[in-house]
Amino acid sequence: MGGRWRDGGGPARPLPDATTGETVALLPSTGPDPAAALAYARDVGGPALRALTFTQRAAILKALARHLAAQLDDLVALSTRTGATRRDTAVDVDGGIGTLAVYAGKGARELPDATVLLDGDAEPLGKGGTFAGQHVYTSRLGAAVQVNAFNFPVWGMLEKLAPAFLAGMPSVVKPASQTAYLTERVVRHIVESGLLPDGALSLWCAGPGGLLDTLTAQDTLSFTGSAATAFALRTHPVVAGRSVRFNAEADSLNCAILGPDVRAGDPEFTLYVDQLVTEMTVKAGQKCTAIRRAFVPAALAESVTDAVAARLAATVVGDPGRPDTLVGPLASLAQRDEVRAAAGRLARVAKLAFGDPDRVDVSGADAVRGAFLSPLLLRCDDADAAAPHEVEAFGPVCTLLPYSDVDGVVAAAARGGGSLAGSIVTHDPDVARRLVAGLASGHGRLLVLDRDDAAESTGHGIAMPQLLHGGPGRAGGGEELGGLRAVRHHMHRTAVQGHPDFLRSLAAT
Ligand code: NAP
Repeated sequence: MGGRWRDGGGPARPLPDATTGETVALLPSTGPDPAAALAYARDVGGPALRALTFTQRAAILKALARHLAAQLDDLVALSTRTGATRRDTAVDVDGGIGTLAVYAGKGARELPDATVLLDGDAEPLGKGGTFAGQHVYTSRLGAAVQVNAFNFPVWGMLEKLAPAFLAGMPSVVKPASQTAYLTERVVRHIVESGLLPDGALSLWCAGPGGLLDTLTAQDTLSFTGSAATAFALRTHPVVAGRSVRFNAEADSLNCAILGPDVRAGDPEFTLYVDQLVTEMTVKAGQKCTAIRRAFVPAALAESVTDAVAARLAATVVGDPGRPDTLVGPLASLAQRDEVRAAAGRLARVAKLAFGDPDRVDVSGADAVRGAFLSPLLLRCDDADAAAPHEVEAFGPVCTLLPYSDVDGVVAAAARGGGSLAGSIVTHDPDVARRLVAGLASGHGRLLVLDRDDAAESTGHGIAMPQLLHGGPGRAGGGEELGGLRAVRHHMHRTAVQGHPDFLRSLAAT
């Protein structure tokens, strides 16, 4: 903050190791003067970034990705303390660095060696050819404030930082309290690299108090977290009153649909079961994109339940540092309590097909001190029940929902109120087309999976930097990533009118 490391104030909160309960770090409750911190980002970081061309910014991101990749061992070790297995860390840390690298590549290849971005072609506005209009993107003069969720302390920061940096905006990052120490470690490595201009990145490890109060229309606010906090931020008097550009990625009751054409024994049946187990177990289900609702044809409900339960029974829950562990602890004991409570609400309308919320065999760790939870598969045969479409249990929890026909499953999926990601597993293109057409308006991303694309599929739950990440309604109504779309989000678009020759010359600015 303000170009140097500073102490926060107020009572410090211990941040526990998710497995052992030992204190990893202390988090201050208040930060230094938030107005001064934002002013430094705007006044020092902003001009330094805007003096660089897109090409130069992309080159810095490329070097930064390389530098962080060289720190992987250190980051993996600390990531384990958040409860992450090596597989989980691959999504957060390796995935975050990969996202930086993708943005570096896109910036180098697809953006000009200039500071102004032309948007499309000039529009002729006069019959004589001497007057036209051109939309241009220029850097905003504010700071990109980024409020992140606890489950992706590294990816969450880097996927927001990269497009803001390319856009020429300094980032002010506020990680979620529980895992802020891992974000802090990454920022230390970034600072030590000396690659970023002074003020281009600030880190706020403290409660959010005051951070939003001095935002202006030149700033952007990007949020990832719960729907309730998204609502509080969206309606914050400063954010709403000053039209601060706001993007929210919130929670989501994502679905996976097994097509009515699939029979037990088909490759798609196995793909569906494999993917469901992966989504339930990676990051112990603490992924905003994880499958919460598994829709299966009623005739296959029994066999899918049995196949998933058999796979979960063979799953090792325990010390995330051990190579044979598939499911580590949740991020904290408080988080486990929340997931148990949510699973309890689901269990009022669904029966448990696998797992016990109050008991789990833990390998190589203490089941009392660590935030361990058994994977829980529920099955809800009551088509009218609301809870599976309303309650997000942010852990290794999924509800299996039998359906009878394509129209019925489209209507049932829509009851999630807007989702980040949905999967359609079918080998019938007509079924796939009907489902894509029926589901698209309620989803940010749809994966159509079958035997022909499975080998190269990036998976249901992985947000790709090239593609949109976000979803309508409950999912926050925002759009992140999506390649250069996220860069433009952090810039301002102006319609410039004048002589066509002059408008063309803007490309060299
Ligand atoms: P959360 O409680 O909403 O917190 C998210 C962030 O908001 C944290 O940094 C939190 O800080 C901060 N915050 C809370 N109140 C605030 C306020 N009044 N002003 C400014 N900042 C405030 O969510 P979480 O429990 O960390 O994350 C879990 C949720 O995130 C899940 O529901 C999950 O589905 C969702 N999620 C969504 C995505 C996505 O891309 N759509 C990705 C990951 C997670 P403190 O930690 O200091 O309270």
